[in-house]
Amino acid sequence: MKVLVTGGAGYIGSHVVKLLGKLGHEILVYDNLSTGNRWAVKYGKLVVGDLADKKLLRSVFEEFKPDAVMHFAAYIVVPESVKKPLKYWRNNVANTLNLLEVMREFGTDLFIFSSSAAVYGIPESVPVDEEAPLKPINPYGETKATVERLLSDLARSGSGFRYVSLRYFNVAGADPEGEIGFAYPNPTHLIIRAVKTAKGEYEKLYIYGTDYPTPDGTCIRDYIHVWDLARAHADALSYLTRGGESEVFNCGYGRGYSVREVVDAVKRITGVDFPVEEAPRREGDPPALVAKAQKIKEVLGWEPRYDSLETIIKSAWDWERKFSQNQRL
Ligand code: UDP
Repeated sequence: MKVLVTGGAGYIGSHVVKLLGKLGHEILVYDNLSTGNRWAVKYGKLVVGDLADKKLLRSVFEEFKPDAVMHFAAYIVVPESVKKPLKYWRNNVANTLNLLEVMREFGTDLFIFSSSAAVYGIPESVPVDEEAPLKPINPYGETKATVERLLSDLARSGSGFRYVSLRYFNVAGADPEGEIGFAYPNPTHLIIRAVKTAKGEYEKLYIYGTDYPTPDGTCIRDYIHVWDLARAHADALSYLTRGGESEVFNCGYGRGYSVREVVDAVKRITGVDFPVEEAPRREGDPPALVAKAQKIKEVLGWEPRYDSLETIIKSAWDWERKFSQNQRL
């Protein structure tokens, strides 16, 4: 398959590109390198471009003629989205519209979308399944829910367009072969932040909110290994290629860990007892997000292989140490 991957130089996109390359697909990465890295693109060609640039996008479609598009290029930081909603709506929604319009112009029908558990907001029950209403509580989640609604309209328009929307829970870890991993300055995500603190890059780790209605008062999340998530994309592509109908899937393991549990695990695995400080809640954080993870296994045949918090943290730690030795950033 010829697959156009937007955001393929970023953290999740680069893992998917590597996996698709290994599976023999032909890849073209379209990335503005705002948070991605050229060296992270392990297969195929990289076009440095922005999704706002419809002219360039058209020329890429004209030349590459993709069979399918995987769309990772988006902003992803919840607290930033609260402060800068226009930035998020512009990139995550308006630029996605550009991409979909160009896909329609060139008759590219298959689309895989990086959605998020943030579309659920504060779910009525946890674990949450795909039927739960979309009720985001922050601008980031709003942009993802909006694109999902748009995709659903487009798939019902009789145009032949089909999509899979993958609702990522909390993605962490790195390439098991150690070639790529998280590589973006000033990360905000818990596991990467914690391993960087263990490494001494930050003085201490803040725990944002200890008064949530959870057993230990900190937020609960479902952490998924990035390589298992990459497999979900490859499985979604096979599914659409086989003629599968448009679908939405949770991508998580179906069990949650609190922030405190993650912090304790990072300390244990790294052997570093780094300083931790309790801080007020962060804006936009739901108390608990855990996936009901059956549907993706049943429909796509997805089989997780790294379903262990320990494995995830170990792989993030291994990458972090290797990465800082190479000092690529
Ligand atoms: N968190 C924290 N300290 C940090 C980073 C994150 O306490 O330095 C908490 C955050 O408030 C949330 C959970 O960890 O409750 C997961 O946040 P993350 O940013 O990793 O992912 P999100 O769920 O926001 O996508």
